[in-house]
Amino acid sequence: MQKITWDIQYLSPPPAIKYCKKCGKKTEYLCSGLFRINAQRKYLDIWLIYKCLDCDSTWNMTIYSRINPKNVAPKILDGFYSNNGELAKRYAMDIELIRRNGAEIGLPKYKILGANINFGTPIELHIKSSYPSRLKVSSLLREKMNLSQNTFKQMINSGSIRSVSGLNLKKCRLQADAILIIDKWPIEG
Ligand SMILES: [Zn+2]
Repeated sequence: MQKITWDIQYLSPPPAIKYCKKCGKKTEYLCSGLFRINAQRKYLDIWLIYKCLDCDSTWNMTIYSRINPKNVAPKILDGFYSNNGELAKRYAMDIELIRRNGAEIGLPKYKILGANINFGTPIELHIKSSYPSRLKVSSLLREKMNLSQNTFKQMINSGSIRSVSGLNLKKCRLQADAILIIDKWPIEG
């Protein structure tokens, strides 16, 4: 069996979707990459700043609320003060954190790196993602394999595409790495 690996490369963190007062509707907020830190006596409040895509209104996503700075690793604390890009990305990719802050999660921009599937041979496909995301595995498969909704359904129903770990491929989102088996399939047309 041929083994193929796809790496999902995220070009942007997911937008946070929430109500914007100025726009008067739910909009996408994008991570600015900047932290805001507020010191009150011994404690710190730390936020990651988001901006409404439509009107630039800001929304501060809470990372820490009234935390004693002694309880934060010095390197991380420096990262907050210097707006370290990797640190901002780590929080911006944290779906649970965004959710706990009362926002919904939008879809990140991404690229699929890896070889195309040749339907002539059975394939073990590894889809790798360094972060859990809201991307649907079915969308990734259909996009990269250029499959119509109908063909994709037929392949799922007949078991020609299946998940080694029992994921529901019609619905599931990419939580971690996924391993799939793709059998030979007569190409459309
Ligand atoms: Zn707005």
